[in-house]
Amino acid sequence: MVEHSQDLEEITLLLKRYGGLIPRYTSYPTAAQFVPVSENNKIETWIKDLPKGEPLSLYFHVPFCDELCSFCACNTSVVRHQGTREAYADLLLAELERVAKFAGKDHVVTHLHWGGGTPTTIPKEALASVMAKVAEHFKIDAQAELSIELDPRNIPKGCATYLKEIGFNRVSLGVQDIDPSVQQACGRIQSEKQTEDCVQSMRDAGISSINIDLIYGLPRQTTESVIHTAETIAKLKPERLAVFGYAHVPWKQKRQQLIPEDQLPGLLERLKQRQAIDETLRKSGYIAIGLDHYVLPEDTMAKAAAKGKLRRNFQGYTTDNSGVLIGMGASAISEFAQGLSQNAPSASAYKKAMEKDGLPAYRDVARQGEDLLRARIIERLMCDLAVNLDDFDREKSFEEERKQLAPMIADGLVRVDGKHIHVLEKGRPFIRNVAGVFDQYLKALISIVVPAYNEAQNVAKVFDSLCRAWEGREGEWEMILVDDNSPDGTSRIAKKIAQDDSRLRVIRRIGRRGLTSAVIEGILSSSSHFVAVMDGDGQHDETILPRMLDALVDGTDLVVGTRYAKGGDAGGLSGKYREWLSKFGTKVAQKVSGKKCSDPMSGFFAVK
Ligand code: SF4
Repeated sequence: MVEHSQDLEEITLLLKRYGGLIPRYTSYPTAAQFVPVSENNKIETWIKDLPKGEPLSLYFHVPFCDELCSFCACNTSVVRHQGTREAYADLLLAELERVAKFAGKDHVVTHLHWGGGTPTTIPKEALASVMAKVAEHFKIDAQAELSIELDPRNIPKGCATYLKEIGFNRVSLGVQDIDPSVQQACGRIQSEKQTEDCVQSMRDAGISSINIDLIYGLPRQTTESVIHTAETIAKLKPERLAVFGYAHVPWKQKRQQLIPEDQLPGLLERLKQRQAIDETLRKSGYIAIGLDHYVLPEDTMAKAAAKGKLRRNFQGYTTDNSGVLIGMGASAISEFAQGLSQNAPSASAYKKAMEKDGLPAYRDVARQGEDLLRARIIERLMCDLAVNLDDFDREKSFEEERKQLAPMIADGLVRVDGKHIHVLEKGRPFIRNVAGVFDQYLKALISIVVPAYNEAQNVAKVFDSLCRAWEGREGEWEMILVDDNSPDGTSRIAKKIAQDDSRLRVIRRIGRRGLTSAVIEGILSSSSHFVAVMDGDGQHDETILPRMLDALVDGTDLVVGTRYAKGGDAGGLSGKYREWLSKFGTKVAQKVSGKKCSDPMSGFFAVK
């Protein structure tokens, strides 16, 4: 074991303590704060307001692949029709024209990246014409990093040569794992030869900077198998490696339903795999960067990291020094000092949005108050694992944040000297938690309001079932019990639980009664981004709450739990009259809202 080896049992405990879905902080505020765009499209103003000569970073997103991999959560589809691929490239050209019109001509492009999906699904001529249009509108810096993502299983004929001719100097390859059994389980068959040939062809063409993506936590992976993958890939000497943990979200991405869940490694096994890859890559001469990157010592990213000049944006870690990122294509995200903006999410929505004038923004968030200050602090922590708060604001004490770091100091994750914060090697897997201390929006993501009257028998059961439903996502939720002064002592029992567990809050209403007002009072007491409402008698299926939250985070306005879904139960409607009343109410609600919601009267819903 190398010096930084850790007691995995201890890390498991730490993960439980600091668990939860903490953002990856590729931006601040994060995507959870995005709201639908208003009539006044902010991104157009932000581009118009760019100072003359401001360096730009450009991103082009292509949501098409040649074949789909079951593990992948990206919003992509297979489009074989050449005409459709060309038509999409035409939309990118049109969007680029609009961006250039707002920006003016005197900007220098310092970074440019094509991601997806598989951007080489765009035909060579179309790719070349978008790049030529970039050069027509902007000056491309001589040192600019021009990169593109590749799928080694589907490299178009002559690809390396034409990418070089078009101007690309960096490529990023998906590999994930080389074990045939793992590849079969995660629906991506890619031979070692395909990977080697791809790397070699790029180098032969003169594209010498190569990144390879690996993933741990996939079905059938073992510590031994990930070591073998890391050793084999390290022998190819890619300049950079990104090592991500597999996120299993089949309710979000249907194709992940093909993943054999019973063959997924558990939490401890995942940690062992992460550590095994880390040790293997360090032994092979790589330097660990931030949360999940490894680079050769001579790579520009290693140099940027050594000088404290590493940056983080939507593409992950970067050496890009530009303060402005303009994303084009479906779902692409742009970043400015003033805020962040995202394009229409799917290829079809993007096409529709491009039929109107202006830029195809779909949701955005304007930075306000301390957002920019906090964005910079979080970025330094994520990049350098250290920050001197005085570099950002000498006047501000950050007393509250430093208090919040106390448990992490006690756990040996962080050292604090005055206003210097250092994340220790043991704390590397928890950088996001340290950064999260400076995230003003990171409260419980969702408050679950439970109105109650005489539920003394049920209150502990409901809270326990919520704890189980949110296992592994501890930081994300809280339960707000609103009790109408029940004579059976509901509040007393709930308060006893709340003394030991801050995820439960209790509101006892004296002299006020009624379900509707209890729900409203519970919602008003929440400062979370999302609110759910469920019954206090355990009739609603709490296990679907994480999925309801994910749907809200993805932009859905209202999610209703229905009793008419497969496995649902409308048995709570005792008597023919109540059943008829519920059906009648459903019909009225559907008519009024114009939405085909099967059970608007279920009383189990979540909203933003
Ligand atoms: S991993 Fe790459 S090739 Fe596979 S579906 Fe995702 S984007 Fe497409």
